[in-house]
Amino acid sequence: MTDDSQKRLSEQLRVLVQTVQQNERTLRRFQDVELALIGAQDFASFLDILFVRLPQEFRLHSVRLWADQTCALLGDLLTSDAEPGSPRTGLLVDEAARDAGAQLCADGAPWLGRTDDSAERRLAAFFGDAPPKSAIVLPLMLPLTQHGATLGYLCLASSDPARFAPGMATDILERFASIVTASLDNVAHRERLKRLGMTDALTGLANRRHFDERLREEVMRAARHGMPVACLFADIDHFKRINDTHGHAAGDRALIAAGGCVRNQLRGTDILARYGGEEFAALLVQTDLAGARIVAERIRDAVAGLEVLDERGERIALTLSLGIAVRTIDAGRDAAEAAHELIEDADQAMYRAKRNGRDRVEEAG
Ligand code: GH3
Ligand code: MG
Ligand code: MG
Repeated sequence: MTDDSQKRLSEQLRVLVQTVQQNERTLRRFQDVELALIGAQDFASFLDILFVRLPQEFRLHSVRLWADQTCALLGDLLTSDAEPGSPRTGLLVDEAARDAGAQLCADGAPWLGRTDDSAERRLAAFFGDAPPKSAIVLPLMLPLTQHGATLGYLCLASSDPARFAPGMATDILERFASIVTASLDNVAHRERLKRLGMTDALTGLANRRHFDERLREEVMRAARHGMPVACLFADIDHFKRINDTHGHAAGDRALIAAGGCVRNQLRGTDILARYGGEEFAALLVQTDLAGARIVAERIRDAVAGLEVLDERGERIALTLSLGIAVRTIDAGRDAAEAAHELIEDADQAMYRAKRNGRDRVEEAG
């Protein structure tokens, strides 16, 4: 072998070894991201890994995820309010992105290419008017054992026009897509369980445990700022009689209607819980005594005006007795104790409303 051909050969070998090493590094980085996704405890961290960590690790221009909100498991997750600070900017739920994904990945395989060809129009659904230079769109399909449903499309984009091109090997990315799918499924189940643990099954309102926790947090926050905390307690009047007269099923419906009606009178940031059988507790955020009086009176009036009918078409007369307690709490106090006292005071005021004739509002002294 001549010196020249030996040199060429060792150069080829060097390049080959370099490529293998680079591939190995890429694979390891993918595995790290995959492990993080599998371990994601909530939807916010799952999105953070996709939209922040993934672009950093792989020098991507951006990442987009279209997720199917008509899918039962994802619906609640996607429509619930974003947790503060969660990076939802890459998350899409609109039909245009779904159609684009479905067209690009018509055969269930990933689509790769430059964004300046005919696909550009469709990629606008993911990126708006400023698409990157090349992209890959990966369908997120559950395995056939889970009906092979498509949960969404994941789009990775680069500013390099040659980064994603048709014909490139996509096995690493397809494997990655299946991990993203399984992790999304997992995190959706996790969030659902969390929500079930916080909500009352009959009314869909928060449950007592969740309320107590939020009240304690609000007491701490308000105490720090020297602001009052307003708490409201409501109990349906003569509910036993309602059950006896109209039947338990109609009683249930009346309870649901009353809960929904109270909810409609509150602001989105207020917390409303079913505190016991036919009792509701509300935390009115950033509300003083004058504000709480108005809200309580409005709730009383709205529930008294509800038109709930039993199976025979007979109107169920519903009224509430309400108690309000509004306190400014010293910053040094134990929050759980102060919260407990506040709800007790509102409860006592509610009992006074019962004694004073029901269908009325009383204030804690
Ligand atoms: P008051 O005006 O003094 O509050 O009278 P009340 O009849 O509402 O009070 P009481 O505490 O005596 O009875 C509460 C009733 O609420 C008894 C219970 O069977 C009923 N209840 C509690 N939870 C539910 C429920 O989930 N569905 C139905 N239908 N009834 C319930
Ligand atoms: Mg009652
Ligand atoms: Mg009661």
